[in-house]
Amino acid sequence: MTTQSQNPETIGLHGGSFRADPTSNAVAVPIYQTTSYQFNDADHAANLFGLAELGNIYTRIMNPTVAVLEERLAQLEGAVAGLAVASGQAAISTAILTIAEAGDNIVASTDLYGGTVNLFSNSLRQIGIEVRWADPADPENFRKLSDDRTRAFFGETLPNPKLQVFPIGEVAQIGEELGIPLIVDNTAAPIICKPIKHGAQIVIHSTTKYIGGHGTSIGGVILDSGSFDWEGNAARFPLLNQPDASYHGAVWVEGVKPLGPIAFILKARVTVQRDYGFALSPQNAFQFIQGLETLALRFERQNKNAAKVADYLSNHPDVVRVIYATAQEGAALERAGKYLDGGAGALVGFEHKGGLEAGKAFINALGMLYHVANIGDNRSLAIHPASTTHSQLPPEQQAAAGVTPGYVRLSIGIEHADDIIADIDQALNAATSNLAVAA
Ligand code: PLP
Repeated sequence: MTTQSQNPETIGLHGGSFRADPTSNAVAVPIYQTTSYQFNDADHAANLFGLAELGNIYTRIMNPTVAVLEERLAQLEGAVAGLAVASGQAAISTAILTIAEAGDNIVASTDLYGGTVNLFSNSLRQIGIEVRWADPADPENFRKLSDDRTRAFFGETLPNPKLQVFPIGEVAQIGEELGIPLIVDNTAAPIICKPIKHGAQIVIHSTTKYIGGHGTSIGGVILDSGSFDWEGNAARFPLLNQPDASYHGAVWVEGVKPLGPIAFILKARVTVQRDYGFALSPQNAFQFIQGLETLALRFERQNKNAAKVADYLSNHPDVVRVIYATAQEGAALERAGKYLDGGAGALVGFEHKGGLEAGKAFINALGMLYHVANIGDNRSLAIHPASTTHSQLPPEQQAAAGVTPGYVRLSIGIEHADDIIADIDQALNAATSNLAVAA
């Protein structure tokens, strides 16, 4: 580690063990665009394959450029180790496949990214892993839905469209009592939320979003806190405690003892990543390393801009509701205060009084904000879920997901706040005139 700092600004530049390239002294992280690595001799090769020694074998499993990203992200989240993969979806799939098999279940929050809902409801079900849905408004739902085949709890720190912060500590506490780890997707709240500090054991990011920031690359990461007692919960986690036939009988909790508490992330890398092959390319890892260098600066600006946009919207006569992490009530507001520090995120939703048609007219009138199905870009983005991402759902399911007809989701970027608000303002006016014409 070149810095012990816990400050994200410093970690983004100096985190992990990379100081300079060992062969050239280059300061910028080189892109190791190679598939394979020559073994020093036959014993070296045997040791690497037998995990007696850790080192590079093949880029599907590890790569020096990807490793710099993994170490920096692990330090950022207070984790002991990480595994970077080809997308946020790959990160979620890998985390689940590392500990669950057919007949097992996980208990997941009802408030999740739609892609994760699809993965959980369809693809995992196809391979025999059941997902049980818990409304996070009452954390006890996680306890009620779990049984002795439950392998994980899963939640998202700041899920949109509702933007109600997940009860990380409350669900982690239930997991602690039952011996079930909590996996948190922290994609929407890097830096402002540290799930591991609040008791989560595994953190996931789609690095595609804020960490990359520039809208160029798809990637994801799994970060292991090292704090879950897999051995103490051996009956629940046979995949980590019994001999693994796919790795000449390795018992992961035993094998890793000299290396530290990395049974979960090591198994994820050398079995799931090896077999499913969700490898991140070194080129994309380099893009994320560049993004990470400025993440703290960029995200601070995005948080400030989003607060200004939320404030502007709450004073607009045609806006009937503003959806923002700190514009909630009751327990949701309390959780935002408890789990977010230094900002309320860069996602803001609002509801236009004119409903569906006004929402669409707003989108059509935008000049600067991009109309895309993405979040976390440096550019400000907007989408109208009722006519796009959620249009296949019947109205009652849209409502359950927090999507009302006039709801518009904004992902606020790093432009000048005045320019973002000016574009939103003219689009709101255009949506209102459109209504008047229609009437
Ligand atoms: N998690 C969250 C919260 C997301 O918003 C997304 C994508 O929008 C993902 C996971 C999936 O990430 P990716 O698109 O990198 O697979």
